[in-house]
Amino acid sequence: MNEAYDKIIIGAGAAGLTAAYSSCVENKGSEKPKSILLLERKDVVGKKITATGNGKCNYTNSVQNKECYRSSDPDKAFRIIKSYDHEHIIKMFQSLGVLPRERNGYFYPYGEQAKSIRDVLKNAVVSKGAVIHTDKDVTDIDRSNDKYTVTCADGTKYTANKLIVAAGGCAAPVFGTDGAIFGILKKLGLKIITPKPALCGLKIDYRYLKNIDGVRLKCKCSLYSKEVKNIIYSEEGEIIFSKNGISGIPVMNLSRFAVNETDKNNKCGLILDLFPDMEELQLEGILALTATANGGPVSTALSAVVNDKLLKILIRESGMDIEDHADRFDKAKRKEAFSKLARLLKNFTMSITGNNGFENAQTTQGGVSLDEIDEKTMQCKKYPRLFLAGEVLDVDGMCGGYNLQWAWTTGYLAGQFSSIDV
Ligand SMILES: Cc1cc2nc3c(=O)[nH]c(=O)nc-3n(C[C@H](O)[C@H](O)[C@H](O)COP(=O)(O)OP(=O)(O)OC[C@H]3O[C@@H](n4cnc5c(N)ncnc54)[C@H](O)[C@@H]3O)c2cc1C
Repeated sequence: MNEAYDKIIIGAGAAGLTAAYSSCVENKGSEKPKSILLLERKDVVGKKITATGNGKCNYTNSVQNKECYRSSDPDKAFRIIKSYDHEHIIKMFQSLGVLPRERNGYFYPYGEQAKSIRDVLKNAVVSKGAVIHTDKDVTDIDRSNDKYTVTCADGTKYTANKLIVAAGGCAAPVFGTDGAIFGILKKLGLKIITPKPALCGLKIDYRYLKNIDGVRLKCKCSLYSKEVKNIIYSEEGEIIFSKNGISGIPVMNLSRFAVNETDKNNKCGLILDLFPDMEELQLEGILALTATANGGPVSTALSAVVNDKLLKILIRESGMDIEDHADRFDKAKRKEAFSKLARLLKNFTMSITGNNGFENAQTTQGGVSLDEIDEKTMQCKKYPRLFLAGEVLDVDGMCGGYNLQWAWTTGYLAGQFSSIDV
């Protein structure tokens, strides 16, 4: 026999737990929370939350603008965010006992333990009477007789008047998100924008990559595409090289655009400007002066200016030898060598050959189209009393707490509006 509830929430991650919490506190139209069931396929709830922000959970950010949220409909995404914004979320967590710690606009729990965010949410929903079933992998959703019936992999079935789908996307499947939910939602006729990795590292083709494995550089990192014939996205910050690629916050933030270019087989690459505050000519002068004044081999004379592993490669590419002494160059040689070196340091270019996949991505671009939902309530336009929240929707945030903000906001709205009896 099917167990019957008023509301079922599929997925007990950031959005699902918040939906359960707001369902309990915003239970308009009746005095006591009605029966709420959370179904989670993993053995514990909120596993992904515990891994966020390097285990510290960057749960929101005081800088909020439309560019922080990427989507096929970024205007709609940002209107949704504004309807229950970061200030509401900071207050919501404060009311649950989370003292915020703010660093340059980035918010963390004061104790800097991501687990604490998961635990306070879980405690709140359990203490308010919501039921949580773990190890319940939902494999089907059926709507008949005005009710929703969900079937789990172990054969159990549950029925409810209302359903919230908060099952996440495809990123980081180790935390329970393999994208199977999109197949289930497609069967219901919902429009799915093809899910792809976002906030991920990129694979690059650079012949000296193994020589700079582990090197970190502060630079302006720009994505170009030969098709677009333009810079698609630029950001300053720290990048890190690995054996087969490149990562770091600027790379992660541009990765969704790079993924789209490589998917279309467009040739694209990265241009790193290691001296974004300087003109090329000015840099050339500084390099020539520094190397000449120092008197030692150019590879050590400039080692306080550029990472030495990279420097050695670029010195050779500029036509010098690492043992060369700049003070022994004639004028023409000095001009030629340092103008080449300055050009390379301002335009360190490499082509992108792929990405590190969903396994290593922090979020998903694509998902259920925002056209399918009412932006005030998160209710599905096609199906009354079906709500969607979180990464399952076609919105991906930049690094900085925006993906969790999207999950909290949409989870809260879905829980709140699904609690209003109509
Ligand atoms: C390593 C890492 C670090 C990150 N750090 C940050 C950060 O610091 N700040 C930030 O803003 N964002 C961060 N993110 C992104 C952020 O964690 C996610 O965008 C956010 O958790 C999405 O919330 P969600 O509830 O929609 O999905 P999820 O948190 O992924 O939760 C979905 C839940 O649904 C369950 N589920 C899926 N399918 C089913 C099914 N069929 N049946 C039952 N249950 C199911 C899953 O097991 C999962 O528990 C990070 C992500 C990763 C991987």
